Amino acid sequence: MPKVIPAPDELSKPFWDGVNKKRLLLQNCAACDAYQYPPRETCATCGSVESLGWKEVRGRGHISSYIVIEDGRLDRRMPDQPYNLAVVTLDEDPGINFYSNLPGTPVHQVPVGAAVEVFFEEVGPGQLIHEWRVTR
Ligand SMILES: [Zn+2]
Repeated sequence: MPKVIPAPDELSKPFWDGVNKKRLLLQNCAACDAYQYPPRETCATCGSVESLGWKEVRGRGHISSYIVIEDGRLDRRMPDQPYNLAVVTLDEDPGINFYSNLPGTPVHQVPVGAAVEVFFEEVGPGQLIHEWRVTR
């Protein structure tokens, strides 16, 4: 399946730099201790700008729900249809969700509620992405 090649901008660069070191870093607000993802200019919880920093999380979560993409309109992904698209909720902060194709999990056989962990896949020279897999 073709992978999304990240195009980091100023705001997301710390996230992608972390991914390239096999670390999952999320924005964290020192004023209210909220995590947020994807990164934003201001804290979505308290509105602070200057209190936003980055904090590493363990990268454990569980599958909250999923759909199977059977008639998506993205040309480059059409050959891979049908494929899973799961919502992964982070255990450290249930307000944080990621999307995942769950590599290794057969289509239509997503175990909702199952524990998952982050791992890192190389998609280009020196460029990793984060993905999620069911833990056994
Ligand atoms: Zn805040």
